Amino acid sequence: MSRLLEVCDLRVEFRTRDGVAEAVGGVSYAVDAGQTLAVLGESGSGKSVTAQAVMGILDSPPGRITGGQVLFQGRDLLTMGAEERRRIRGAAMAMIFQDALSALNPVVPVGAQLAEMYEVHRGMSRKDARRRAVELMERVRIPAAAQRAGDHPHQFSGGMRQRIMIAMAMALEPDLIIADEPTTALDVTVQAQVMEVLAELRREYAMGLVLITHDLGVVADVADTIAVMYAGRIVETAPVRDLYRRPAHPYTRGLLDSVPRVDHRGERLYAIKGAPPNPLALPSGCPFHPRCPRAQEVCRVERPPLYEVTAAAGTGSPGARTSACHFWKDELDALDAVNA
Ligand code: SF4
Repeated sequence: MSRLLEVCDLRVEFRTRDGVAEAVGGVSYAVDAGQTLAVLGESGSGKSVTAQAVMGILDSPPGRITGGQVLFQGRDLLTMGAEERRRIRGAAMAMIFQDALSALNPVVPVGAQLAEMYEVHRGMSRKDARRRAVELMERVRIPAAAQRAGDHPHQFSGGMRQRIMIAMAMALEPDLIIADEPTTALDVTVQAQVMEVLAELRREYAMGLVLITHDLGVVADVADTIAVMYAGRIVETAPVRDLYRRPAHPYTRGLLDSVPRVDHRGERLYAIKGAPPNPLALPSGCPFHPRCPRAQEVCRVERPPLYEVTAAAGTGSPGARTSACHFWKDELDALDAVNA
């Protein structure tokens, strides 16, 4: 499987009136062709800022990339010329945003917006471009696509608009799509339908997909690997099944325990205490320590590195897991004791 994207030790800071906020503090992840990586975290965890830095759409200033590499098919996007980077971004990498209404042009019919991609990037005639646009709308399951191509974005429901966003991103058949909370504004049934369309297209075109979300429910069926972010850092990575079965970080476990389950009806839902930290004043040591039920003295003074969670510890997937917790092994042992 070929490596599409490799983010290495990426750092982003924001200069504000109150000081410098470290929004992304050395994030690394990789996506191969045909793979889906879900980046999971609460708002403010740095997951969207990382994606914006990767796509080159960071609000700058106040945002600033202060270190790291973003290798796309082996070439560093951060050091290449603006023109070359724009070309890659237009054709080989595409992004799906959370809010389709503000990402689409409100005064141009959706069919014309899609057709423009083919005219500008593929040099197609207007007639051919319009035909391709309708085909694409059918592909993302917009009913009566030929008639609806003349409608404006506000004439579509939220779910249908999000499908049009997917169509826009897919139009040039990119190698990689970054989807930033693509279903957050939708109700649960529509969410599932939109995710199904996205997953189907990803499989069909063997694209890489980075799916950014705060919703564990969204990722279970579509992701291969999950990276959990907290306070601008990755705190756990694991193949999706391993992470759901045996989370190796107390924060991940807290997120999983706070998801409602049909087999736990009537039970009180777990809530992680406290709130995510202020990026202008991150806690010392492990940034999760003020909220962590397992915190010990060392956690207050020593920042945990990303430990490799080894197969020898019974995790099942050698070399594929990491956890930024001094006590990841105790966390797994405690889980095993509960499940024994
Ligand atoms: Fe909790 Fe300590 Fe692990 Fe941080 S290092 S997650 S505070 S146990």
